[in-house]
Amino acid sequence: MGRPLRRGRAPHGAVVNATTPGRIFYTKPSITELEVRYAADAAANGWGEHCYDYILRFEQQFREHLGSRHAIAASSGTGAIELGLAGLGIGPGDEVILGDINWIASAAPIVHLGASPVLVDVRPDTWCLDPAAVEAAITPRTRAILAVHLYGNLCDMDALSAIAQRHGLALVEDAAEAIGSVWHGRRAGSMGAFGAFSFHGTKTVTTGEGGVFVTDDDALYERVLTLSNHGRARGEARQFWPERIGFKFKMSNLQAAIGCAQLERIDTLVAGKRRVFEYYRNALAGLPLALNPEPAGTRNGYWMPTLVADPGSGFDRQRLLGRFAEENIDGRVFFWPLSSLPMFAGQPRHAISDSLSGRALNLPSYHDLSSADMDRVVRLVREAFGDG
Ligand SMILES: *Cc1c(COP(=O)(O)O)cnc(C)c1O
Repeated sequence: MGRPLRRGRAPHGAVVNATTPGRIFYTKPSITELEVRYAADAAANGWGEHCYDYILRFEQQFREHLGSRHAIAASSGTGAIELGLAGLGIGPGDEVILGDINWIASAAPIVHLGASPVLVDVRPDTWCLDPAAVEAAITPRTRAILAVHLYGNLCDMDALSAIAQRHGLALVEDAAEAIGSVWHGRRAGSMGAFGAFSFHGTKTVTTGEGGVFVTDDDALYERVLTLSNHGRARGEARQFWPERIGFKFKMSNLQAAIGCAQLERIDTLVAGKRRVFEYYRNALAGLPLALNPEPAGTRNGYWMPTLVADPGSGFDRQRLLGRFAEENIDGRVFFWPLSSLPMFAGQPRHAISDSLSGRALNLPSYHDLSSADMDRVVRLVREAFGDG
């Protein structure tokens, strides 16, 4: 299943000569003849009475993968989060708690709905939100806790769901980076009131752009289904009759066709990510740094292998990123604390978030990255720690 395609040409503008080693992208999708075949079929035939075929099939495959009752394909992960929060009725005056270190996509939907993101510090070991800090931040306005499983690492779902229950809050999951991650037998994204995933081109499973909303809650599913279709309820007999203002965050049949092929290959895709991570873990052993954790009873999908230098190790992130650039290797900085961005300037800063961010970066990790290319990365990382 899924024979690899022939290598493409060098990207436009790339300066390539005999002595320049090939560029190592930080991520790129794994596309085989299966994806191409489904996409071509959707382009040729996926119209008229077949215009939803791949979308419905994709939603079913995703439900089966995750073990959730409902799935609604969306135009993006950000859109899926916004649909879910809107479905819970979150709006002006409400507060949603999330970790300070996060991609803006997790916070933006809260702001768009007129609610307030409340940022709390993260744990130094998982880089995900600290349950004690969450509990301390709860006010009478708090409506939800947004658990973002950063870089594949899992939030402490047992502690968070106990807090959510105690205070009558919704615990929701942004699992955009956590396909393949499992918390004590339950898949990331299947444990909260709802889960959201992204299929952006950098993610483990991709449709180019895309996302999905999942839930086990029948009533929430119906509300989000209506919201996702411009406020038009299923079963409404009148044509063009919205019952409320909704959203237009749908996935196209063309994107879903690629997604169906990716989901048939999902075990291979996650295994590719895990292979890359394990190679780095072995090759970087002994250096004063931490990589993505995988606590007992959990499994990490390792979307993005990330290194965090020990405090006091003298690690110079800019210098390593500069060396990567010289050697034609992509490096990515760790997310900035949201509280350091201009639009959240009024929020308090957090010691662990501030400290982590400057010591950390993501390593290249596409599914079929070769050992020889990973060795190029490892050599520069070892050099950065004075062990070259
Ligand atoms: C990628 C990502 C999103 C947003 O997904 P899009 O499909 O790009 O909208 C949301 N949250 C996290 C944690 C992400 O990594």
